[in-house]
Amino acid sequence: MAILMDGKAAAKTIKAEVLERAQRLRERGIEPSLAVILVGDDPASAVYVRNKEKDCEECGIKGIVCRLPAETTQDELLVQIARLDANPAVHGILIQQPLPAGIDPFVATYAVDPCKDVDALHPQNAGLISLDRPHFLPCTPAGIMVLLDLYGIDPRGKHAVIIGRSHIVGKPMTQLLLSRDATVTVCHSRTPDLGAVTRTADILVSAVGRIGLVTGDMIKPGAAVIDVGINRKPDGKLAGDVVFAEAEPVASYITPVPGGVGPMTRAILMKNTITAAVEATV
Ligand code: NDP
Repeated sequence: MAILMDGKAAAKTIKAEVLERAQRLRERGIEPSLAVILVGDDPASAVYVRNKEKDCEECGIKGIVCRLPAETTQDELLVQIARLDANPAVHGILIQQPLPAGIDPFVATYAVDPCKDVDALHPQNAGLISLDRPHFLPCTPAGIMVLLDLYGIDPRGKHAVIIGRSHIVGKPMTQLLLSRDATVTVCHSRTPDLGAVTRTADILVSAVGRIGLVTGDMIKPGAAVIDVGINRKPDGKLAGDVVFAEAEPVASYITPVPGGVGPMTRAILMKNTITAAVEATV
């Protein structure tokens, strides 16, 4: 039976450290703050934004939500981003994705001041990550690295297989694992015979968003299985990409959904925000 990697507990520790750093800033008269831009009324995005507000509250960070209507044009969004960039009282800026059709996420991300880009998606920050000189760490991959370290799983010399090549998870995850000396294979929707690759993984990260994608027979016995996927089941409950009941007896470590990677992503966002606030004051 695999050991459960408790992201909730690990996230609590990170958030407690952030709160302490926030309190130290407040003692100096600085109120750390994160602005979240939400365009449109996507219900899942609304939940994610509410969670970020809660996290901010817990961590002593002022959360500012800029709600913009679905009809917002790209130019109007850019004006809003420029205002936040210019506001010294705002330390972190996050644009909640997905953005409505008609707004290019690249253009929006590019407009964020890289020093406030706590999501680490600005081309400058993404470039620094691939050069092994990260400024802000990408939230989900960094959260996964913390969990691996916490459970004593050293990527060095291991074969890590990542399913998914998005800019937000798959690609930066590749970089972080490479920088820790793993041999990394990246799979995607055009990978033939996914199972043949995943069965060679000592560390398997699934970041697809497809329920039941990773079955027990696709996992190498003793592997660490990191399930990034967040999928809504017909009964309304959340599930990952991995068939947990099949994976648990085969793997040595596994993250649950919910309670695994999700809380870590949220905690690293708070950590990046407090880092941005501290850096803005020196
Ligand atoms: P994207 O949709 O941007 O990327 C999904 C990736 O999965 C793509 O690279 C795609 O390949 C690949 N893919 C799709 N179908 C298959 C398949 N059948 N076999 C192999 N690969 C496939 O998603 P994100 O990276 O943004 O998110 C992935 C999942 O992680 C989602 O469920 C999301 O909700 C969740 N998520 C969870 C977070 C957390 O904190 N737990 C944080 C961020 C995301 P291709 O490139 O060829 O299209």
